[in-house]
Amino acid sequence: MAKDILDGVICDVNNCVYWEEGNRCSADEILIVSHRGTKASTVEETDCQTFERS
Ligand code: SF4
Repeated sequence: MAKDILDGVICDVNNCVYWEEGNRCSADEILIVSHRGTKASTVEETDCQTFERS
C-alpha cells in the first residue's frame, strides 16, 4: 500500500524513516524548530524534529 505523502514538503534528508523517492515526506505532520528559541535569522538555524534515522 502506498504511503500518504505530506503535500508541499520537499526534503533532501534521505536517511529519515519518513523520506520517500522524489524527496517527499510520508510523516503525518512535521515539527520544525529554530535553534534560537522561537525565531531564526538564517535557514541553517531551523531543522525538522520529526526526523528519525532509518
Ligand atoms: S520527517 Fe523531516 S527529515 Fe524526515 S523526511 Fe520528513 S521532512 Fe524530512
